[in-house]
Amino acid sequence: MKSKLTPLMQQYKKIKEQYSDSILFFQVGDFYETFYEDAKEISRLLNIALTTRDKDKKNAVPLAGVPIHAAESYIAKLLQLGRKVVVCDQVEDPSQAKGIVKRAVTDVITPGTTLTPSTLDENENNFILSLNREDDLTGFAVLDISTGEFIAGEEKLPNLENLLSGYRIKEILLPEDDDELEELVGNIDSGVIVEKFAPGFFDSMSTREVLLDHFGLKSLDRFELEDRLLASSAAGALLTYVKELRRNPLRHISSLRYIAGTEYLYMDSETMRNLEIFDPIRSDSPESALINHLDRTMTAGGARALRQWLAHPLRKRKKIIERLDGIDAFISNRTSISRLRGLLNRMPDIERIVSRVSAGKGGPRELLALANALEKLPEIVDSLSDLNARIIADAVEKLQVELYSLELIRKSIDPECPLSIKDGGVIKEGYDDKLDSLIFASREGKKWIASLQEKERKKTGITSLKVGYNKVFGYFIEVSKANEDKVPKHYICKQTLVSAQRYITAELKEKENAILSADSQRTELEKKIFADICQKVASESSKLQTVAKSIAYLDVISSLAEIALERKYCRPEIEESDAITISEGRHPVVELISGKSFIPNDLEMRPEDKQVLIITGPNMGGKSTYIRQAAIITIMAQAGSFVPASKASIGIVDRVFTRVGSSDNLAKGQSTFLTEMMETAKILNNCTSRSLVVMDEVGRGTSTLDGLSIAWAVTEFLLENERARCKTLFATHYHELTKMADIYPRASNLRVEVKEWGDSIIFLYKIKPGASDRSYGIHVAKLAGLPQSVIGRAKEILDRLESERNSDRELPVQRRVFQPYLFEEPDEIKERLEKIDVNALTPLDAINILNELVKIAKNKH
Ligand code: ATP
Repeated sequence: MKSKLTPLMQQYKKIKEQYSDSILFFQVGDFYETFYEDAKEISRLLNIALTTRDKDKKNAVPLAGVPIHAAESYIAKLLQLGRKVVVCDQVEDPSQAKGIVKRAVTDVITPGTTLTPSTLDENENNFILSLNREDDLTGFAVLDISTGEFIAGEEKLPNLENLLSGYRIKEILLPEDDDELEELVGNIDSGVIVEKFAPGFFDSMSTREVLLDHFGLKSLDRFELEDRLLASSAAGALLTYVKELRRNPLRHISSLRYIAGTEYLYMDSETMRNLEIFDPIRSDSPESALINHLDRTMTAGGARALRQWLAHPLRKRKKIIERLDGIDAFISNRTSISRLRGLLNRMPDIERIVSRVSAGKGGPRELLALANALEKLPEIVDSLSDLNARIIADAVEKLQVELYSLELIRKSIDPECPLSIKDGGVIKEGYDDKLDSLIFASREGKKWIASLQEKERKKTGITSLKVGYNKVFGYFIEVSKANEDKVPKHYICKQTLVSAQRYITAELKEKENAILSADSQRTELEKKIFADICQKVASESSKLQTVAKSIAYLDVISSLAEIALERKYCRPEIEESDAITISEGRHPVVELISGKSFIPNDLEMRPEDKQVLIITGPNMGGKSTYIRQAAIITIMAQAGSFVPASKASIGIVDRVFTRVGSSDNLAKGQSTFLTEMMETAKILNNCTSRSLVVMDEVGRGTSTLDGLSIAWAVTEFLLENERARCKTLFATHYHELTKMADIYPRASNLRVEVKEWGDSIIFLYKIKPGASDRSYGIHVAKLAGLPQSVIGRAKEILDRLESERNSDRELPVQRRVFQPYLFEEPDEIKERLEKIDVNALTPLDAINILNELVKIAKNKH
């Protein structure tokens, strides 16, 4: 027999059916309950008790709940774990409900669409990505609904991953049945929510309409998207999704920015990881991440902007120079740095406040915070008056925009207001006449009640008479049992206590009704007025976002200026050339955290004779540091920052690739060596002559001869392939590779200097021209504390191997011009055989020829 569901569970099931892929938080009194599989999942994920209402029953419904007041933090955790949460609230007063309390879905929260501050990292954007593909061209759009940042473009599939690696993506929308896009998003991040839609969801006509309607436009020309149907359909589909989910017009999404593939320097996610731009390679040493040393911003918007600058360094010289000019302007007027930073201190997050307010999620205190921020604008503008740089002048102009939000908020919101509009007391007196009269009615009624106690005491002569209030009975007059005989006739008995009696009077009831009605009307009216104020502020969201962006940029530029001054960074020259020259360059992180004084080094890269630099030297000598610092300095320069060097000239780079260290990706079924080769393949297939490649050893994960051959061939490819003659820094322990500098004019050797001191070595960390002949691995093993007996034995074996080794391994010491399509080498044996007339051969001839052929074959191998 089918078990019959309770009315509550019937209601639950009906709602849950519509949200089968989300966890449903279902309000029951003061708790959000989850049932069935949801309950099991949240109990596991959040470590909360799994229980049931009907413990005795066989098919008891699993249940797990969280108190409503603490729900936000549980929801935040679920979002972090990549889950979607649907909140279903009681939408009527249970005491007034006839039958089961009405419930409705009030929020659908996903990792990419959340607006709740506790679920967002204030220093990072929170992007949702949408993709739509036709052949090898893919349209993409990314949106951060918490700030209104909305970007779209089109890119070929292989480049797309690089382009997207700079955005921290939490959720992805895709057309279903597109294996290639699925594979691509699998590479972005395995923990991200992927939503698939029928291709019609990305229909170019209807998505275009969505965009035109949202932005109030007749054409998408303004965003340069009119003829980019893949980009506009990805953007339109994304907008449809978030608007439906949030059930809000989301007016703060006020602009859409087209980005071209050539705008930014590409780095894939491995490169960002290898260079530790945002995250340390080892999670226990956060101090290794560059961002932690470059982020001195005072505002959350500034921190997010700095991350964007670093994740997407520029390729347009003019734009880079504008940023550098901005830093220069602050540097030549140092007092303005501290003045501005003082003003930005504790500046609220305008972008996110505007987003929340526009989406109907903002509270009164957020409006006050916004007003506090806007109030500072004139002073900020004033602090910049002596600075002469275009980027600053632009920002100043945008900060001087006329805004009515500030005056509106100051006029309407009580500075002492509670956190939530639900509690009332938010709107200032004098702002709305109707509200004022309700406040007056309530206040008068309360005054009358306040005076009632004295009046009744005098009238009745009961000096202990009290007037009080409780939620169940409302206002009452309390008289002790001892004075019961003095109670006037018109008192109506309401409640009997042990030692007292509580009464009401007709007049008291009337006043009470007046007060309660005024109070409840007041709360309702306040909600309406507040929503109206939010609407008005939202209608300025575009201007407010521009203000927020300008503040963020000023914050980034001034903080980079402060760092440049403090750490003696120099302004890089930005060139269109193919050369990179750095004098006394330093690694921006190692110099701060290594605890010893950092030895600066020069670098020169140019196509004619220093296109590929092969760096050899002892273990621990500083090779990795040197090659990474070159890449980081280039990235910093193109991001628009000053750099750790005494002089630097950077020929703009289109991509930075790294092949560093080896780690396996067991989760994806890739061994250490396979990972290494995949990274190398990615470089060879995607680099251009304007790229910068940093390789910290190639081919170490296999046998020495295999590895050396691969390393040689890879370097040869980078030197000789017309399409891919990229600037390359190659640190290696294969000393054989240094011979390449003799063969290839564009290759050059560098070595790390050390001093031998008896049995030990002293690291000098100085990079010099020329090749090194040893790796000093055993010295480093000794430093690391390997047992003395092992060190001694290793030395013995090394001596033997070195004396046995024939000094030059057979290396292809002739220059080989790389041909993309190799012809088969001529087969001598075949040629010889073809010339033989078998009928004319004597048996002796046959033996001689056979001998000859064997010889040829042996020589070949
Ligand atoms: P291996 O070949 O073993 O990988 P390596 O030559 O790549 O070694 P690094 O890892 O670059 O050596 O450097 C080792 C350590 O030396 C760094 O962690 C740093 O503390 C220090 N170091 C590197 N370069 C410098 C420098 N220029 N000045 C001061 N210290 C340095």
